[in-house]
Amino acid sequence: MTIYNLGSINIDHVYRLQALPRAGETLHARSYTQGLGGKGANQSVAAARAGARVVHLGATGAGEGWVLDRLAAAGVETSAILRLADIATGHAIILVEAGGENSIILHGGANLALPADLPGRAGLGPGDILLIQNETNLQAEAAALARRAGARVIYSAAPFEIAALRAVLPHVSILAVNAIEARDTFAAFGEDLPVEALLITRGAEGAEFRDLRSGQVWHQPAFAVQAVDTTGAGDCFAGWFAAGLSRGEDPPTALRHAAAAAALQVTRRGAGDAMPGRAEVLDFLK
Ligand code: ATP
Repeated sequence: MTIYNLGSINIDHVYRLQALPRAGETLHARSYTQGLGGKGANQSVAAARAGARVVHLGATGAGEGWVLDRLAAAGVETSAILRLADIATGHAIILVEAGGENSIILHGGANLALPADLPGRAGLGPGDILLIQNETNLQAEAAALARRAGARVIYSAAPFEIAALRAVLPHVSILAVNAIEARDTFAAFGEDLPVEALLITRGAEGAEFRDLRSGQVWHQPAFAVQAVDTTGAGDCFAGWFAAGLSRGEDPPTALRHAAAAAALQVTRRGAGDAMPGRAEVLDFLK
């Protein structure tokens, strides 16, 4: 079974400064690093490192070939990623001050210009999984097409947007949200959601999976670790959980692996580049 991930690909430009600049102020950064980010790319890398077959559906601008090389190096199939002319690769300008507070500018670029025929080219079939988030166009179209083809749709509803959720929800099999997104979802749509299952992550408090058809609920505590950067923890969890399901794991096993992977991920700086591999995760669980 294959995971098709219609998702964003970003370059994260991270500048560390003593303090965030005020309006009109110019400051020297203490350091600069460039990394792979975007919720889509993060989840593709996480799922591929977890051992799943992952085909990424997305786009970059014409330059920045290293981004595709890095996805490929993680085991993600990149042949369906388009290189669009005259548009920037999606990116985030991330300013981090000494105290840890940050400011982020996101530019969607190529992620928001995916051509309408991209999902149809993927060849989704019964038993496959379509993974989607909220940083590209075409989520609802891709999700509807995937369900018609007999695939399951896992929707990681972040960044959270009610209008996007309303459009995608009728086509979703598993809705994946963090604690805040869960609260906002229930406030807007009630607890009786029209999906098969709900995955809720609650940071250091762990995660739960609710099968809304059978009523069964599985809880997974978070593993105790020294967190240094939680960016991408949710993506790591979602990617590993999807990979578990694609490998035929039952929900508690997929949850346990995803929680261990996310625990390792938060002990490292970075997002896409910080996703742990299968051997590391199994070693951590010994
Ligand atoms: P982000 O937006 O930072 O990517 P998120 O809000 O989508 O994260 P969280 O619910 O914060 O997602 O975290 C996802 C999972 O990562 C949690 O369910 C947990 O398993 C793991 N995790 C997050 N923070 C910690 C932590 N401090 N220690 C151990 N595990 C953690």
